[in-house]
Amino acid sequence: MTTTLKKIGFIGTGIMGSAMAAYLMDAGYEVSVYNRTKSKADKLIERGAKWCSSPGECAKGQDIIITIVGYPKDVEQVYLGDNGIIENAKTGAYVVDMTTSSPILAEKIYNAAKSKGIHAVDAPVTGGDVGAQNATLTILVGGDEADFNALKPVFEVIGKNIVYEGSAGAGQKTKACNQIAIAGTLAGVCEAFAYAKASGLDIEKVYEAISTGAAGSFQMTGVVRKGLDGNFDPGFMLKHLGKDLAIGTETATAYGASLPILAMVLHEIRNMERTGNGNEGTQALLKYYNII
Ligand code: NAP
Repeated sequence: MTTTLKKIGFIGTGIMGSAMAAYLMDAGYEVSVYNRTKSKADKLIERGAKWCSSPGECAKGQDIIITIVGYPKDVEQVYLGDNGIIENAKTGAYVVDMTTSSPILAEKIYNAAKSKGIHAVDAPVTGGDVGAQNATLTILVGGDEADFNALKPVFEVIGKNIVYEGSAGAGQKTKACNQIAIAGTLAGVCEAFAYAKASGLDIEKVYEAISTGAAGSFQMTGVVRKGLDGNFDPGFMLKHLGKDLAIGTETATAYGASLPILAMVLHEIRNMERTGNGNEGTQALLKYYNII
C-alpha cells in the first residue's frame, strides 16, 4: 500500500464488488462493508472485513468510500438518500462510484459532495467478472484530475488499464461508449449463429471457423461461447446490460447522437427481461434468436 488513504468503506458486494473488496483487503486496506443482502458479504466478513448496517455507517470515518451497486436508483439512494454516504462521509474523504450508472447522476453526486468538502469521482469498470476476479479491470475515471491521482494506488490494486477521462461524468460517458460497442457486437455474433442455423450449417463448425478470424471478439469467445455450451450463468446479467443500454439511449438523445443499432438491441433485451431471462448472463441473447 503506497498511499496515506488506508480505511475503505465498500458498498455493494455482488459479483464484481466481492472480488474487488477482497483484493483491497489483501493489499492491506482496512475494509468495512455494506450490502443490501448481508449474506453476500459473509465471505469478506470471514476474511476480516467489518460489517456495517447502512451506507451511512459504512461511510463514517472512512478515507475512501467505494460503491458498486446495481442501478442508478441504487446509486442515488446510497449517496443522496437518508443516512447515505454524502450525509455521513467526513470532510476530505474520497467517494468513488464504480457502478455503471448515469453520467448526469455522477455530476449531481460530484456537486453534492463538493459542497461538503468531499472529493467525488465516477469510476465505472470494464473487463467483466473475470476482470474483477483477476484484478485486471479497466477503470474509466471522471472527476478532478488531482482526485484521480490521489486514488490511483487504490485503482492499481484492482485494475490494469486505468484512464482519466475528464470532468465529472466522463467515466460514465466512456462506459456508455463501451456498452454501446458491446451491444452491437453481441447482437451481431448472435445474428451470425442465427444465420448459420437457419441456413443448415453446423454451428460448432461455423464457430471453429469464424471465432479466430476477423469476426473474433470477446463477445464471441468469452460470452456467446458459454451460451453455445448451454451455460447461462451470469458473469454479466442481461438486466444490467438493459440498464446500461437505457442509459446510453437516454443520454444519446440528450447529446444529439442518433444510434439505431443501440435502440434495436435494447428492444431485444427488454423482451428477454419480460420473458424472465433478465438474471441470466448476456449470452442468453442467443435465446432471443432461438439458437438454443
Ligand atoms: P450484482 O451481483 O447484482 O451486485 C450488486 C450488489 O449491490 C448486489 O449484491 C446488491 O444487493 C447490492 N446493492 C444494490 N443496491 C443496493 C443498495 N441500495 N444498497 C446496498 N447494496 C445494494 O451485480 P454486479 O454484476 O456485481 O454488477 C454491479 C455493477 O457493476 C452494475 O452496475 C453492473 O452493470 C456493473 N458491471 C458489472 C460487470 C459484470 O461483468 N458483472 C462488469 C462491469 C460493470 P443484493 O445482493 O441485495 O441484490
